Amino acid sequence: MPHRIPPAPFDVESLIPELAGLGRESTLLYPRRGEPGVRDSSIGGPLLWPADEPWPLCAEPGHWEPLRTPTEVVGPEPVAMVPVVQLYARDVPELPFPAGMDVLQVVWCPLIHDDEAGTARPEVYWRSERTAGAGQVVSDPPLPYAYDEDFVPRSCTVTPTRVVEYPNGDLPTGLAQSLGQRFDEVEEAFGFSYYEMAVTVQSKVGGYPGWLQQPDWPDCRCGRRMDHLLSITASEPAEGRWFPLGEQGPESSDPGSRTGTDHVVADGIGHGGIDHGGIGHGMDMGDLGGVYLFVCPECPDMPYAHRYDC
Ligand SMILES: [Zn+2]
Ligand SMILES: [Zn+2]
Repeated sequence: MPHRIPPAPFDVESLIPELAGLGRESTLLYPRRGEPGVRDSSIGGPLLWPADEPWPLCAEPGHWEPLRTPTEVVGPEPVAMVPVVQLYARDVPELPFPAGMDVLQVVWCPLIHDDEAGTARPEVYWRSERTAGAGQVVSDPPLPYAYDEDFVPRSCTVTPTRVVEYPNGDLPTGLAQSLGQRFDEVEEAFGFSYYEMAVTVQSKVGGYPGWLQQPDWPDCRCGRRMDHLLSITASEPAEGRWFPLGEQGPESSDPGSRTGTDHVVADGIGHGGIDHGGIGHGMDMGDLGGVYLFVCPECPDMPYAHRYDC
């Protein structure tokens, strides 16, 4: 069951017609500390990984763990990658699964790399659940002997929830500036800004990457700009428009009554019955950063690329 989220207090496109057509479907994942199994969609959970397939290792010679002396390079033994995302088509059918595939897995190296690829080095695997689960599945995957804890997610369930969101960094050139005053008027009239109400920065599939720096979309070798596949970000909402109604205190069920920004955390969650600490995968990802994955679904081998943003 997807989460219910507070309704928007205004309709973006009727209030700001210049944004017509820029809304994009996005599937918010809402990671929560839990114990998913190999047959579950998860962030940081166990993967449906065939036992006869080697576990992915990073053999980069130049990766290092920040808490060591920075000049001390980890290795030379390869480092086991860690599970980051597993999504089944039954939970997120909107993913661009190649024919016959119905599981997406993302792993990455939990160390820092001194090159333009920077952090994490994600790898993407598409699988068939039937084929991958037909024989023995890895039950005890190798753990990295060195890692940066900022890039090792704790085990989380996910609750895919479909929304429509609008761009922030990806607003067409000049539009953000020309709409600045209108955004101010909207905020004055409704008590919520465009950016609070229409833009998400959290782990998600599709939609817009929650760019913290300037957008930097990768191009595929075929010349096409890649599509945003998914984002894993350090930020997850604990209040506000994108915080699920079912996780809020009863007094905050009417979004129109909320005026403060810290209401939910202060009164409902942090000191209430729900475990506020259970929100999110626990990775700081540098300084509240994110890793965005992109794919080209037009090329048969589904090339992918990533951006690290912080
Ligand atoms: Zn590495
Ligand atoms: Zn391509």
